[in-house]
Amino acid sequence: MNAEIISVGTEIILGDILNTHSQYLSQELAHLGINVYYQTAVGDNDKRFTSILKTAISRSDLIILTGGLGPTTDDITKEVACELLGVKCYLDENILNKIKTYFEKSGRIMSNNNTKQAMVPENSIVLENNCGTAPGFIINKDGKTVVLLPGPPRELRPMFEEKVKPYLKYNSKDVIVSKNVRVFGIGESDLEPKISKIVKQVNPTVALYAKEGEVLIRVTSKASDEKEANLLIDKTIDELYSILGNYIYGINKESLQQVLVEELIEQNKTIATAESCTGGMLASKLTQISGVSSVFNMGVVTYENWVKRDLIDVTEESLSKYGAVSQEVATEMATGLSKKSSADFSVSITGIAGPNGGSEEKPVGTVYIAVCHKQKVWCKRYNFARNKNEREYIRNLACLNAMNMIRLTLIDEKIFEDNYI
Ligand code: ATP
Ligand code: MG
Repeated sequence: MNAEIISVGTEIILGDILNTHSQYLSQELAHLGINVYYQTAVGDNDKRFTSILKTAISRSDLIILTGGLGPTTDDITKEVACELLGVKCYLDENILNKIKTYFEKSGRIMSNNNTKQAMVPENSIVLENNCGTAPGFIINKDGKTVVLLPGPPRELRPMFEEKVKPYLKYNSKDVIVSKNVRVFGIGESDLEPKISKIVKQVNPTVALYAKEGEVLIRVTSKASDEKEANLLIDKTIDELYSILGNYIYGINKESLQQVLVEELIEQNKTIATAESCTGGMLASKLTQISGVSSVFNMGVVTYENWVKRDLIDVTEESLSKYGAVSQEVATEMATGLSKKSSADFSVSITGIAGPNGGSEEKPVGTVYIAVCHKQKVWCKRYNFARNKNEREYIRNLACLNAMNMIRLTLIDEKIFEDNYI
């Protein structure tokens, strides 16, 4: 099924508002396996709108119109669409009463103009508007489907989600299935060339979404039944695994912490954290996951030097000789914590989140992360700076990478052996 989206509104044409509907609807239709071939914006002008709609009907199966369903005379979408399709409208008392009640509830008086919104195209499906007054409509005529949706996003989005999406799914001969492949440790620009062949595939389609510190690959397939659709997806996911290996941390998983905690539970291993620059953020992320209490041992925020020394046995010598942000201190934090916690994995984070405190040798964004496991330590130096002020970004990336280091160790201890100091 081919679709196009026409956004009606002079405000869009003037650049007063950004046409976010076209993005939202295109993404949603793509998930449904519906190809969007055109997006158009047109002002509230009946001649130009008629001409655009005529073209759309001649070349697309599904046309989604947004905006212009309001009560005023410049709201022309329904009138123009019905005129062109040769569909008459009638006054629906039920809808009129609903609009009246809507006004009464909000303590306002309904103007006569609003009667216009209770006019219903014959043989159409009425899409009730729970967030405003204008209902939407689905009109089927001569093999074409025209969907009319209200302009305000807080009305359009729930209407699409709750009414239009189920309608499109129900009327599609195909079953659409999506799976999310979560990738960590490789940026979008390095990832794309590796999987460029797969990205060009048509069924399943493969789309990349860059998220903070990670990439989400959405694989969507279309088939006559769910089993077939899943087979197609799993074949593509196997190919992705063969190229990306352990960069993939999960399929249809919520987050890295979810995967890590599940794996710790599965392997019956415990974890402890000592955090400096992340101030407890890592412990907080881990404790978002229900069931973590059986694997999370303890977490300490060791901000000041004396706390690092007194609580987790970091030596005065390392602190003064190498500084709190150093491989030596990160390592001692992890080993010291390991003694106190007896956890299978003791992880430490120390770094410079900025915007102040950086130096040439250790610029803002420098973070050392160490993992102590079976008395051995794997310590890594990172630089997460993109922009000097991105303190939260740096702290978040430090936590994600710490979790990823433990995840990798859980998959194969050898990675740890190869990297230990
Ligand atoms: P109303 O009853 O509010 O008049 P309507 O269905 O007639 O609703 P419009 O008048 O076209 O819709 O637009 C109402 C508001 O919705 C706009 O002022 C704008 O804030 C938002 N809106 C309309 N179209 C878009 C769009 N394409 N993208 C994002 N926002 C939009
Ligand atoms: Mg309007």
